Amino acid sequence: MRGILLTKSDAGFNAALSEIDESGLMDGDVTIKVDYSTINYKDGLAITNKSPVVRKWPMVPGIDLAGTVSASAHPRHKTGDKVLLNGYGVGEAHWGGLAQVARVRGDWLIPLPLALSPKQAMAIGTAGYTAMLCAMALQRNGVRKEQGEVLVTGASGGVGSIAIALLSGWGYKVVASTGKMDHADYLVGLGASEVIDRAELSAAGKPLQKERWAGVIDSVGSHTLANACAQTRYGGTVAACGLAAGFDFPATVMPFILRGVSLAGVDSVMAPMPLRMQAWATLATDLDLAKLDAITTEMPLHGALAAAHDIVAGKVRGRLVVDVNRD
Ligand code: NDP
Repeated sequence: MRGILLTKSDAGFNAALSEIDESGLMDGDVTIKVDYSTINYKDGLAITNKSPVVRKWPMVPGIDLAGTVSASAHPRHKTGDKVLLNGYGVGEAHWGGLAQVARVRGDWLIPLPLALSPKQAMAIGTAGYTAMLCAMALQRNGVRKEQGEVLVTGASGGVGSIAIALLSGWGYKVVASTGKMDHADYLVGLGASEVIDRAELSAAGKPLQKERWAGVIDSVGSHTLANACAQTRYGGTVAACGLAAGFDFPATVMPFILRGVSLAGVDSVMAPMPLRMQAWATLATDLDLAKLDAITTEMPLHGALAAAHDIVAGKVRGRLVVDVNRD
C-alpha cells in the first residue's frame, strides 16, 4: 500500500511517502480501504517529529480516517460499511490513516453519518469533532446564546474554524481571536461577529479582568487560557482543548472561586463512544456544509509532508484533507 511512513533508526528520524508492506499492519478485527485522512496539529507534531507523539516505530501517522470496511470479524461492522475513526492512539501507537489500508479495532469505529461523504467527514476530522465536544461542554454547563458573547481562540485553525461555524449556526454571538488579522474576512464569513487580535490575550494578565465572555472555546492554552478565564463572566464556562501556544496554565483560582467560572477539559482521543456518537450525529445535522467546504483544502499523500510543517508553524487556515489514493 502507499502511505506516509515514519521511521527512527541510528541514522535518525525520517518521514517519507513510501510503498508499505501490508504485513506490517497491526492487530485489529476490521480492515479498511481508506479514502481520506487529514492533517491535524497532532499529525503535524508526529510527521515533523517535533514532539514525542509517536510511541511505536515504524509508524503510519494519521489520527483520523474515513473509508470502507474490506474485511471484518467485528459484530457491528460488515464488509462494504462506510466508517470513520478519530483518535484512540491511532497514528501514535497504532498505524493510522495516512495510508491506503488500515487495520484497527472495530470498537474504535463510528458508522459514517449518512449526511456526510468520507471527504466531508475528514474535513471535520478530529479538529471538528473536538470543536463539537467543546461546544457540547458549554451547552452542558448551561451557556446559552442569550447570555452574551462566546470567545473562540486559535480561530483560524481547524478547531477554531469549525467552532465558529457551529456556534454561530446555533445563534451564538462569536468573537474570534486570531494571529491572522488579515484573514478577518474569512472568520466573519464563518460567522464571527467580531475579530480580535490574539495579542490582546497572549501576554500575562491580571487574575481578574473585566467580565466579557459567557463562554470560551480555547485551543491555545498558556496565557491565552488564563486571560480567557479571567475575563469570563460570572457563572460562565471555559472549554479547554488545546496547547497551540503552550501547555502551561499560568493562572490563579480567582475566576473559579469568586465568579463561579467553570473550566471544562475536553479530550477527543479517549472520549467515550456515546459522546462521540452524539458529537458526530450533531455535526451531521448542524454543521453548515457550505462553510465546511469553504474551509477545506484537499491534497494528495505527498502534500501531507509539507502540510505537517505548515500546521506546526501555525500557517494553516481551516482544515487539510488528504486523498490517500493520490500520490
Ligand atoms: P491548528 O494548527 O489548525 O490551529 C491552531 C491555531 O492556533 C492556529 O491556526 C493559530 O490560529 C493559533 N496558534 C498557533 N500558534 C499559536 C501561538 N503560538 N499562540 C497563539 N495562537 C497560536 O490546530 P488544530 O485546530 O488542529 O488544534 C488546535 C489545538 O487543539 C492544538 O493544540 C491541538 O493539539 C489541540 N487539540 C486537542 C484535542 C484534544 O483531544 N484535546 C483534539 C484536537 C486538537 P490564529 O492564527 O487564528 O490565532
